[in-house]
Amino acid sequence: MIMRVLIRGAGVAGLTIAHELASKGAEVEVAETAARAGGGASWFAGGMLAPWCERESAPEAVLTLGRGAADWWDAALPGHVVRNGTLVITPPRDTAELARFAARTTGSEWLDTESIETVEPGLAGRFRKALFFRDEAHLDPRRAIAALQEKLVAMGVCFHFGAALDFPDAGFDRIVDCTGACAIGEATDLRGVRGEMLILETPEVRLSRPVRLLHPRIPLYIVPRENNHFMVGATMIESDDSGPISARSVMELLNAAYALHPAFGEARVIETGAGVRPAYPDNLPRIGVDDRVIHVNGFYRHGFLLAPSVAKDVTAQIIASSKAKFAPSAGLFKPAFPTEHRNANPLEIGASR
Ligand SMILES: Cc1cc2nc3c(=O)[nH]c(=O)nc-3n(C[C@H](O)[C@H](O)[C@H](O)COP(=O)(O)OP(=O)(O)OC[C@H]3O[C@@H](n4cnc5c(N)ncnc54)[C@H](O)[C@@H]3O)c2cc1C
Repeated sequence: MIMRVLIRGAGVAGLTIAHELASKGAEVEVAETAARAGGGASWFAGGMLAPWCERESAPEAVLTLGRGAADWWDAALPGHVVRNGTLVITPPRDTAELARFAARTTGSEWLDTESIETVEPGLAGRFRKALFFRDEAHLDPRRAIAALQEKLVAMGVCFHFGAALDFPDAGFDRIVDCTGACAIGEATDLRGVRGEMLILETPEVRLSRPVRLLHPRIPLYIVPRENNHFMVGATMIESDDSGPISARSVMELLNAAYALHPAFGEARVIETGAGVRPAYPDNLPRIGVDDRVIHVNGFYRHGFLLAPSVAKDVTAQIIASSKAKFAPSAGLFKPAFPTEHRNANPLEIGASR
């Protein structure tokens, strides 16, 4: 018999865990209350895979766990990861901010006006100094979520969209709860950090990589996407309110975008939105085991960056616990999906039923 796992939540956490488990031969079903995958914070993410930049305000674990993320996404979804690095800049009056950022991070090189022009011609002549984090990457979270879901379906994973909050879990050997900010109030210490963003469209600005604009009050980033779209983010507000963006935040994000490049003044505002980042006090994700149920939450501002590493960890824990509890029996496993998606040497998972 095959290990059957129910995953609650089709955000980046649930989908990456589904991918890892299905790759090892488990039979996986995903229950999602929204009508599509990425119904929560994952939909609003910038998609930056930027562990060196994030280290500026995050613990070392974010760098050690996150540095392999681009490789994971590349292997899972070839063609989705853009490895052009990250540019960090400040207006000339705030150069001290740039030095402070450099002192708190590793993995960057200094650029002057000329080299900024070489690396990012769209910003030619606008900034005197920049930090370039060459090894960082980014992806479009919405495209990645949709592609991952499509791949999972091809691998035999069954999705239940519009599912009830308590979608029945009878018959499953394990339940993995990846419900993000919806678990606030149930998961001890879990809180929400509201992130507001907008999407601008303009053919007048060309960027090849995420650009972070340091500012003492509202640090901003702009991530280029297809079709002349730019994701502009993001506020960090201690709140679990997922309601519409405030007028103040629109003004501050647009002001910062305008400071990066005045052509953003003529851009069309395609979308505004807000997502609630689920966070624990240390702003690091946690895996909690409660008998059959494994709770995976607290990705804060690092869901796309840290989910691959956490998904591997969760899968290893499920395999280890099932092997300890149930005698594995080679005859009891079926290929859960076509062979081209299978791991070359898949671990077999013992079944409980
Ligand atoms: C503006 C913004 C920018 C960000 N930028 C980045 C970035 O550049 N890089 C990065 O790595 N991270 C970024 N993040 C953080 C990242 O988006 C989150 O860490 C990540 O989305 C959390 O993923 P999750 O799967 O845990 O939660 P979610 O994405 O919220 O998914 C939880 C899912 O569970 C579903 N659900 C809830 N209750 C139930 C239930 N009972 N049963 C079934 N389903 C349920 C919800 O509908 C939802 O789809 C950003 C976040 C925001 C808001």
